[in-house]
Amino acid sequence: MRVCRLLLSFVLFLCLYEGCAVNPISGEEDFMLYPEQHDIAIGRKYAPEAEKQLKGKIPNEELQNYIDTVGQRIARISHRPDWEYHFMAVQDESINALALPGGYVFITKGLLVKLTTEAQLASILAHEVSHAVARDSAAAISREIGIGILFAAAVIQDAPQSALEAANITRQILGLQYSRDDEQAADLAGLDYMVRAGYNPQGMIETMHVLQDEMKVKPIEFFSTHPNPQNRIGYLKQKIQAKYLNLVDVKIGKEEYKRHVIENLKDNQVHEQRK
Ligand SMILES: [Zn+2]
Repeated sequence: MRVCRLLLSFVLFLCLYEGCAVNPISGEEDFMLYPEQHDIAIGRKYAPEAEKQLKGKIPNEELQNYIDTVGQRIARISHRPDWEYHFMAVQDESINALALPGGYVFITKGLLVKLTTEAQLASILAHEVSHAVARDSAAAISREIGIGILFAAAVIQDAPQSALEAANITRQILGLQYSRDDEQAADLAGLDYMVRAGYNPQGMIETMHVLQDEMKVKPIEFFSTHPNPQNRIGYLKQKIQAKYLNLVDVKIGKEEYKRHVIENLKDNQVHEQRK
């Protein structure tokens, strides 16, 4: 029996072991427990449950198309442009944004109502795309959840899994803690992405200020998994100063954001109240 278990562990290890893969953002070799196709399989498998846990998709097609357009613009200039990315605005009132492995990005209504420009929205989506591209979740998943359970549940697609088990794993994925270094790398790569997608990098600084102001009122969900914005503003300002000081024709998109997001959220609220 023991031999059997040992053999099984070894076979599982061989199946999972990806070896070293170059992180396209840092250019360094990262130890990866599984290949990138598994990120996509995990994302695909748990995205519907994540959507449910985040109170469902905001039922407004124009708003969703707008979020997706901004997200895709960033995804296409990222280091993994060939992945299929999914961007969704969800009804959760908490102030949060999350990325499942493989390019499934969620932003909450609670955060959308606090933002005021398309560049600010782009900064959040660019940060999340950077996490997906760097495959930060792979390390966090193996550290916090355990690779075996995920492998069985997501990669062997027809593996039996109860609804409760799927819900638990999704909750754990949504609550994954990345390292401070991973967060800083996602901020800095996100800044590059948003500029390359044509946005004013000040949007990321403004977003940090928005989050910081919210923190003064109450603890916000985003910071249960992210470092304090105060520390992040410093290195972002430095990079803008060094690299992006004289940009011309970069988009802020205040009017567009108001029209596509704020007004649609208002309409939805009126609609909900009438129901
Ligand atoms: Zn992050």
